[in-house]
Amino acid sequence: MQKEVNIIGAGLAGCEAAYLLANNGVKVNLYEVKSLIKNDIQKTNDLAELVCSNTLRSKSKKNAAGILKNEMQMLNSLVIQAAYENQIPGDDALSVDRFGFSKSITEKIKQHKNITLVDKEVTEIDYTKVTIIASGPLTTEKLGQNIEYITGNEKLFFLDASAPIITKDSIDFKHVYWASRHNDGKDGKYICIPLNEEQFNTFVEELRNAETVKLKSFEKEIYFRGCQPIEQIAKTSKKVLLNGPLSPNNLINENNQTPYAVVQLRQDDAIDSLYNFVGFQTNIKWPEQKRILQTLPGLVNLNIVRYGVMHKNYYINSPKLLNRAQQVKRNKNIFFAGQITGVEGYIESASSGILAGINLLAYLNNIKIEQPSRKTMLGALNFYITNPKHETLKPMKCNLGILDQQNKNAKSEFYSFEESAKEMQAFIKRINNFVKLGEINE
Ligand SMILES: Cc1cc2nc3c(=O)[nH]c(=O)nc-3n(C[C@H](O)[C@H](O)[C@H](O)COP(=O)(O)OP(=O)(O)OC[C@H]3O[C@@H](n4cnc5c(N)ncnc54)[C@H](O)[C@@H]3O)c2cc1C
Repeated sequence: MQKEVNIIGAGLAGCEAAYLLANNGVKVNLYEVKSLIKNDIQKTNDLAELVCSNTLRSKSKKNAAGILKNEMQMLNSLVIQAAYENQIPGDDALSVDRFGFSKSITEKIKQHKNITLVDKEVTEIDYTKVTIIASGPLTTEKLGQNIEYITGNEKLFFLDASAPIITKDSIDFKHVYWASRHNDGKDGKYICIPLNEEQFNTFVEELRNAETVKLKSFEKEIYFRGCQPIEQIAKTSKKVLLNGPLSPNNLINENNQTPYAVVQLRQDDAIDSLYNFVGFQTNIKWPEQKRILQTLPGLVNLNIVRYGVMHKNYYINSPKLLNRAQQVKRNKNIFFAGQITGVEGYIESASSGILAGINLLAYLNNIKIEQPSRKTMLGALNFYITNPKHETLKPMKCNLGILDQQNKNAKSEFYSFEESAKEMQAFIKRINNFVKLGEINE
């Protein structure tokens, strides 16, 4: 069996996959376009660039991101190694010097005897080669068209805008109530955050003054298609807000009163652990989003699992197209990894690259493997994006809600960490006859 593979995209996922495969004796041709053509958000020629924030999120054992990072570390993640080598103070978060971080990864990749870095835009996929496509949410247009071709009639999704999503357990229910607009407030299915006139005016001022991400030309196109971010509506008219996303209409509270304005939260997942802000598409910078939403009653401790974003974001319909090994069902030579599969976030993308590398190695060795269990964050994410029941996949960040664990209350969060580590150890044992997790580069 061939022991040479192509990887398209030397971002977080592509570098992780290349590193794992190269350490296992596979020759990797790693294709990267950025030194020739940069997209609107790339700044340097280094690999695995962190395009927005410089944090890999919480290190806490009680946090989903902490759990995932621990699993990645157990799998000898290149990204986690580089992050700790370039760590800067960041309270509970693993914050990094973004330039040092990318440089460390670039050096490791360039120096590896089994990796050839090819500066090139891939426009066509070579089906005769075993390949991982890890070209990210901003895959170049020509490659995007070619991917549409290999994935059949299944078009690449275009996520134009989204509202933040938070965990239900981070809401203080003393300050909110349940109601449904279309049911005269009865039998409430929405969490309603009431605002009096003064609170409404303060909130509008915050939205108007919020620091936003600068729109790129292609994003303006989306914007003008009528997908207005909440801060833009706030700048235009308070009346539009009161008749639109913040309308209190029919949202009667338990005292039979209608508040001046209401922010609504809608259930977002089957197990009722996540809620999204209704009508709150936003382009506000992530730390600002958190700060402003925290000023709302009941949200002082809010835990955002997905921030509102407005940008072009390619991802494939993985539940339909991929098997659990991240392999195209109709063409087993082709694997996908990273954000293009529908996971969202730096560590989610990087961890997906590690798993794709392991799955590809199993394929090369003609070995069938059982994926990491859904008690691990990596296994749960993989299951989420490849679950055929999710007909129209929405990008997913790691969160405790997707874990297949019985006890998800606050007391058991530590238990999640221990259990995920145990399950990851079991996975490592299952693959240790063909995967070496250390660095081999002499
Ligand atoms: C604007 C924006 C901001 C984001 N901010 C954050 C954030 O703050 N925190 C967070 O956790 N996540 C953030 N994300 C989400 C996500 O985590 C990152 O996009 C992450 O970098 C995805 O990793 P990846 O490896 O899948 O793709 P990428 O890191 O994007 O890597 C893909 C690589 O493929 C290359 N490539 C593309 N097309 C071709 C081609 N045809 N030929 C060769 N190479 C190609 C690209 O140049 C790139 O280097 C953001 C995403 C976007 C778009």
